[in-house]
Amino acid sequence: MTLIWKKICDNILAPSQLNGSQIVAMLTPAGRSPELRRHAASVIFARVQLIAGIFAVLVPLCSVIDLLVFDTQTALRLVGMRFASAGIFIALAWPRELSVTRGYGQALGALLILLLVPPLFHVMSADMLSRAANTHVQQLVAQLYAYLPTIVLGGLAIFPLTALETLILALPVIGIGFGNTLLAEPMLTLAQYGGTLWFMCMMLGVAMFSGMSQCHYMATLVFKAMHDPLTTAYTRQSGEEAINLLYRLNHMAAKPLTVAFIDLDRFKSINDNFGHEAGDQCLRALADTIRAALRRSDLLIRWGGEEFVAVLPDTPLDNVSTLLTRLRDSGLGERPDGTPLTASIGIANSLEENVSGWETLIQRADQRMYAAKEQGRNRAIWPDGTSLSLARDDEPTSSTDATTSKAG
Ligand code: GH3
Ligand code: MG
Ligand code: MG
Repeated sequence: MTLIWKKICDNILAPSQLNGSQIVAMLTPAGRSPELRRHAASVIFARVQLIAGIFAVLVPLCSVIDLLVFDTQTALRLVGMRFASAGIFIALAWPRELSVTRGYGQALGALLILLLVPPLFHVMSADMLSRAANTHVQQLVAQLYAYLPTIVLGGLAIFPLTALETLILALPVIGIGFGNTLLAEPMLTLAQYGGTLWFMCMMLGVAMFSGMSQCHYMATLVFKAMHDPLTTAYTRQSGEEAINLLYRLNHMAAKPLTVAFIDLDRFKSINDNFGHEAGDQCLRALADTIRAALRRSDLLIRWGGEEFVAVLPDTPLDNVSTLLTRLRDSGLGERPDGTPLTASIGIANSLEENVSGWETLIQRADQRMYAAKEQGRNRAIWPDGTSLSLARDDEPTSSTDATTSKAG
């Protein structure tokens, strides 16, 4: 019995395993990380282009049905509207790149246009079709065309949208489709228009559920692909993409981007003396400590084994000293023998120095980190070459050396 209940919980009631922030992330896009937004934008846009491409072919092809079923005048007007719609679909499907900064808005805008074409087609043709549909076959085809706005709502299910986004995108479609039903036939009974509304709401519910689960799935995959499993810092590859973007954004806005290259001191001796697992534990704790000192907009990247890069957008050097003082006061954690874990840090800033790109910025921070090692470790080197000791006042300056001798 317990086993059956566990299976139900694991396989059917999966949402119970979600934490609060994951549930909120499925409801609203606020708080999405920039990389998740970019990924969602590219998925949404790619699907809009695919569907628009298919519609650009299928919609004009349906002219054959119009010509076979309706009288020539009605059919020709429908064909004209079909080719106008196909023009919009071709424009949507036309290959182009999303903007780096406004990509998400562009993708949602393209999706909204895609969604609005069928209901508008319906609005413009409904009156004409109801007058032209005299035979049973004509009435059947007119009825099938009238389902288009509702089918479009169901189509929202293939997009990774949060519940709020699905609702906002669906409202104009429901408004046009339902409003047109009421206007076209004011004498409809509650059962008739209630049925249409109910059908639309069911489609919307299905689309919302599917969009939310896709959002969650996408967020999980993007997180796994972009973060290092040990420390959950960004991986080198995803970090480089993120710095590239932040560098360009800060450069365009003439804002200072600071990077801090952090290399742990004498880390190998932890592995040698206390084992790899103890070393891993130190890396995890260090990443947590640094992240706690950073702002939400900052990034922590695991650049290599025991090397991290903190990327601080819109941060002048004065604010970096505040951050380092905070880190010095809190400490970077402890080595397994209880002595302080220390690091050598190189700082580089995009406005203070003449750099040609983010790669040069990282290179300079790396060189300064090596200078910090040469000057005795446990310190940060500034762009002007000055050195800030990271030894706490209550801790002997030779702590690194003490650790070294202890650790071997
Ligand atoms: P220095 O002060 O000069 O930086 O000395 P160091 O010992 O920190 O530098 P070194 O480059 O010689 O050693 C880095 C070590 O980091 C070597 C490697 O075993 C260890 N390391 C790299 N990745 C991991 C990891 O994921 N887990 C653990 N436990 N150790 C790692
Ligand atoms: Mg190293
Ligand atoms: Mg090291």
